[in-house]
Amino acid sequence: MKILEGKTAIITGASRGIGRAIAIKFASEGANVIFTDLAYDENAISLEKELKAMGVKAKGYASNASNHDDCMNLIDEVLKDFERIDILVNNAGITKDGLLMRMSEEQWDAVINVNLKSVFNMTKAVQKVMLKQRSGSIVNVSSVVGVGGNAGQANYSASKAGIIGFTKSIAKELGGRNIRCNAVAPGFIITEMTAKLPEEVVTGWFEKIPLKRGGTPEEVANVITFLGSDMSSYVSGQVINICGAMQT
Ligand code: NAD
Repeated sequence: MKILEGKTAIITGASRGIGRAIAIKFASEGANVIFTDLAYDENAISLEKELKAMGVKAKGYASNASNHDDCMNLIDEVLKDFERIDILVNNAGITKDGLLMRMSEEQWDAVINVNLKSVFNMTKAVQKVMLKQRSGSIVNVSSVVGVGGNAGQANYSASKAGIIGFTKSIAKELGGRNIRCNAVAPGFIITEMTAKLPEEVVTGWFEKIPLKRGGTPEEVANVITFLGSDMSSYVSGQVINICGAMQT
C-alpha cells in the first residue's frame, strides 16, 4: 500500500535538491503534489511533468516563501485547483556564510527571511486549511547546525534553531486540532547547496561523519515521508537528525 494515498502535499523550494527528492518520493507514495520555487522555470516544468507521469495531480507555482503576501496569495490560488492540504513541507532555504566579523546586515536579513520567516508565512497560510480539516502534518527542514551551531554560519544556524523553537510551539498550539508539527535536521547532504564548498572542506566533513559519507536527498525525503504520513501519527514536536551520526 502507498502510504500517502489520498493526501495532498505542498513543498516549498522544490525545483531542485532535497525539495525535488521529497516531491518525487511523495508522488511515488501516491500523494498529489503542489510545489513552489522562486521561478516557474525549466526545472519546475520538468518536475511537474515527472510527477504527473507518476499518476498523481501535480502543479508547480512561482512563489517567494519569504514574502508574506506571496504565501497568502499562493494558498488562495492552490485552493482553486486542490481541495485540501494534508502535508506542508517548509524546505526552501539558502546560505550566505561568513564569519560574524565580515557578515553584513544584508547576509543576516536574507538568511533569516528565507529560512525562518518563510516557515511562519507558509504555516500561517496553510493553517486555516488544516484547521478546517482538523488534520495535518507540518514538516520543517532545519539542520544539525541549528542544534549544535557552526562557525561561519551564525545567520544560518540562528535561522535553523529558530525553526526548531517554532516547530515545538506549533506542535503544542495546534496539537488539539490534530495538526502535527515536526522538524528534520539533516547533516551534510550532497546537493547544489553543498556543491559550492571546496573539495577539502567536503572531505574534512566526511572524515568527521561516523558513516563516512554525505547523505543523499532521497535519504532525507524518506524520513520526511514518514513524518508526513499517518505512520507517524503519534509523533509531534520532535526534531529528527538525518546525519549519519554526525550529531548524537
Ligand atoms: P538547494 O539550494 O539545492 O535548493 C533550495 C531550493 O530552494 C532552490 O530550488 C531555491 O531556488 C529554493 N528557494 C530559495 N529561496 C527561496 C524562496 N525565497 N522561496 C522559494 N524557494 C526558494 O538546497 P538543498 O540542499 O536542497 O536544501 C533544502 C533545504 O535543506 C534547505 O532548507 C537547507 O537549508 C536544508 N539543509 C540542507 C543541507 C545540505 O547539506 N544540503 C543540510 C541541512 C539542511
